[in-house]
Amino acid sequence: MTQLREPGFRDSVDIMFNRAVAVMDLSPGLVEKIRVCNSTYTVRFGVRLRGQIHTFTGYRSVHSEHMEPVKGGIRYAPGVNQDEVEALAALMTYKCALVETPFGGSKGGLCIDPRDWEPHELEQITRRFAYELIKRDLINPAQNVPAPDMGTGEREMAWIVDQYARMNTTDINARACVTGKPLNAGGIQGRVEATGRGVQYALREFFRHPEDVAKTGLSGDLDGKRIVVQGLGNVGSHAARFLAQEDGARIVGVIERDGGLWDDAGLDIEAVLAHLRATGGVRNCPVGRFEPVGAELLEADCDILIPAAMEGVINLDNAARIRAPLIIEAANGPVTAGADEILRRRGIVIIPDLYANAGGVTVSYFEWVKNLSHIRFGRMQRRAEEARNRLLVEELERLSADRGLGWTLSPDFKRRFLTGAGELELVRSGLDDTMRIAYQSMREVWHARPDVSDLRMAAFIVAIDRVAKSYQSKGL
Ligand code: GLU
Repeated sequence: MTQLREPGFRDSVDIMFNRAVAVMDLSPGLVEKIRVCNSTYTVRFGVRLRGQIHTFTGYRSVHSEHMEPVKGGIRYAPGVNQDEVEALAALMTYKCALVETPFGGSKGGLCIDPRDWEPHELEQITRRFAYELIKRDLINPAQNVPAPDMGTGEREMAWIVDQYARMNTTDINARACVTGKPLNAGGIQGRVEATGRGVQYALREFFRHPEDVAKTGLSGDLDGKRIVVQGLGNVGSHAARFLAQEDGARIVGVIERDGGLWDDAGLDIEAVLAHLRATGGVRNCPVGRFEPVGAELLEADCDILIPAAMEGVINLDNAARIRAPLIIEAANGPVTAGADEILRRRGIVIIPDLYANAGGVTVSYFEWVKNLSHIRFGRMQRRAEEARNRLLVEELERLSADRGLGWTLSPDFKRRFLTGAGELELVRSGLDDTMRIAYQSMREVWHARPDVSDLRMAAFIVAIDRVAKSYQSKGL
């Protein structure tokens, strides 16, 4: 019954967009131009596999070209459809604007269950799909730069970049045609875990503002907070690991395809991930209590709920029963517009997807810049930085010895101070900075304007305002 009232994903994003523009001073024509999806290309192609021709359907949707290239992942899942890729492309536009990565929004998808195919078959399918997109400039370093999403990863991106390079043998920037590549194919350190890292940095930044934390009824920092993570894919697994191992949070519950696991004392997340890798699920895991109906754990008593799998998992059916006072959307669109309204009325604070999962595209941006500059970050500065720091340490030690002061610098301090920043440290620093600044831009609007009730609305306002300014300055 309630399912009938739930709008589709694309409409859900539009409802959120409309709430924001309702309090903005933009002309209706411009609002419409920003809202609509510029184009969606559908391709059906055949691949000869297992002795017969199989036809696949794929999409690449471009939501906004106010900045180019446009950016967004390619998803492999059986349920991929036009409505979904258009919603995800729109979210990419707002996400990129919010975290100031200079891209428009795009998204692609292929209707396929990757588990049905062998790696060499997936390679053939991916190369064929990439060929269709490349020949229409829907993969191109200057125009449209895909990345991994659900069901794809470094391996697929390596096939795509190779396919592009074969078709554009003289393009010196070929490697910048896609991000999320393995290091040996032009990737960047820290990209794989970037979205999970971004979720951690987002939470850290939220907890730096006691006024904001107070709205959830929680207090203090992340230490000891009880967290439920839904989905232990590339985003959820890294977020859970970082929060447990580096911030002292307790991952009390996890939810996977085949059920959930619970432990009040906090699950040993490495053990859970090892079991998941070995068996493909969480059933029979040696740690935690197994819950056959995993989705029920979304409604469990905890401090922070992290939906990190897919859209629509918190909806009209379960929103009233969610008990977490704080939700951070690590997935794209995990809370439907209807559920969002219910949760808002119940005073639950939501850190919205367009901010919370922007770590992935942020590090994609660094990778793209690295590819265009043809040099690894830190290569020029690292040793110079170390040499200057060494000068300082040696001078301090000389002064101490000359004056008989007896100062000694601890070996740990010296080691850390004398190690210049390499690519990984720089990527983390850039990501941390991005997440802090974007949060501050959202919270400013949230706190300054009485007509802005929540962080999602604030995030949309910041993003739409930036997109609007760029349309206004470039002219249509
Ligand atoms: N698919 C990821 C997202 O939804 C990453 C996109 C990118 O890096 O371009 O944000």
